[in-house]
Amino acid sequence: MKPNETLWNFPSTNGNGKNGHHGHNGCGGHHSGKHGLHDDIGDDHIATSVETPVRPDAFEVDDDSKIERIAEHFRQIMEILGLDLSDDSLKGTPQRVAKMYVKEIFSGLNPANKPEVTLFDNKYKYKEMLVEKDITFYSNCEHHFVPIFGRAHVAYISSGKVVGLSKLNRIVQYYAKRPQVQERMTRQIAEELKRVLQTEDVAVLIDATHLCVSSRGIGDVNSKTVTAEYSGKFQDMETRKEFLRYLEL
Ligand SMILES: [Zn+2]
Repeated sequence: MKPNETLWNFPSTNGNGKNGHHGHNGCGGHHSGKHGLHDDIGDDHIATSVETPVRPDAFEVDDDSKIERIAEHFRQIMEILGLDLSDDSLKGTPQRVAKMYVKEIFSGLNPANKPEVTLFDNKYKYKEMLVEKDITFYSNCEHHFVPIFGRAHVAYISSGKVVGLSKLNRIVQYYAKRPQVQERMTRQIAEELKRVLQTEDVAVLIDATHLCVSSRGIGDVNSKTVTAEYSGKFQDMETRKEFLRYLEL
């Protein structure tokens, strides 16, 4: 790689056959035909790891440069689609999309945006589970880049420390603002809750609609996807049932 040719100038990254298709190779199925590899993983929504696959150099470039580059590429996509970018209604779109990607809907890729959580002593000696339910989130499917939206419900049992309630919402929003797979998002939220709350006793349940399932592809407008992660005391059936009962209130 030449000095001024970083992964950020990446038109050739997938062309050399070495760097492309990370994590897509083992997903089986037929690899023939021009859609081969991409379609194999596409509608099956397989996550390859609990960590979002982010390159080590992902944050060497600042947000403004990313916005500039994405806008340039998005403009090309629109042009290839045949849109007239000189039209007043369209000309600002590449810049708007780029800014939205970096500053809003994919801002959770950047660890700098991770919510800082301060713990407090559990002075009330509250020993029961705390449930923060109906946390509305908007994410995007990493296989199609169309929205996943729904509600997340999280719970924990204090190990002696508590957090401000809004932090639970913020942790959900942080992991939602990435290209995602619902199963991974569920686990990422659970792992972060365990880390910040210093307890294994956490539960996460996500109930979501995937536009890649409802608005295209199979076109099922009614189906929803539910994922859950229960750890520590939530692996006990009674505790789990109690959590699920609170969600019905
Ligand atoms: Zn999808």
